[in-house]
Amino acid sequence: MKLVRLIYSSAVTRDMSLQDLKGILDCARSNNSSLGICGMLCYENNYFLQVLEGERAKVSELFIDIADDPRHDEIELLGFEYIEKPLFDNWKMGYAGGSPIFQKMLEKLEMDAFEPGKLAPRQALAFLHHLSSHQSEI
Ligand code: FAD
Repeated sequence: MKLVRLIYSSAVTRDMSLQDLKGILDCARSNNSSLGICGMLCYENNYFLQVLEGERAKVSELFIDIADDPRHDEIELLGFEYIEKPLFDNWKMGYAGGSPIFQKMLEKLEMDAFEPGKLAPRQALAFLHHLSSHQSEI
């Protein structure tokens, strides 16, 4: 079985309430569980950054569905690579938003505001991985 890691960024098409985010996460957690997919979603400043890990065909198919979702656009693929072992396997879909740690990470990257499309693939992965141990409860 070929495992892959996919990272993308996108911009929301309308304001996201906490309830909207919860709807996305509930759906992701339930679907991803049955697909054997894990990952992490960040939302801030009207942008999403998400990593998906799992079987290649399942991740590709899910990404096509997600990319088609009218709640966001400006999808940019930041990374797609084979992996030996998932990094995010403790989370069906973890979540991090504008916490103090999140802000600290932005300062480290010398970013005034979260603009994930500007991150290099390695930076995006390091960002998501660091935040996976400092998640926001939703
Ligand atoms: P349906 O719920 O029937 O969706 C039908 C269509 O309506 C789809 O195009 C769907 O995108 C859209 N849709 C659904 N709910 C809404 C809504 N409230 N407002 C507007 N349009 C809507 N799903 C996962 O399974 N795993 C993930 O990791 C995941 N991550 C996501 C990350 C982001 C940033 C976003 C925006 C969505 C994510 N989703 C994820 C949701 C995904 O895009 C689909 O909505 C979900 O997979 C269900 O799609 P469906 O076609 O099976 O069902």
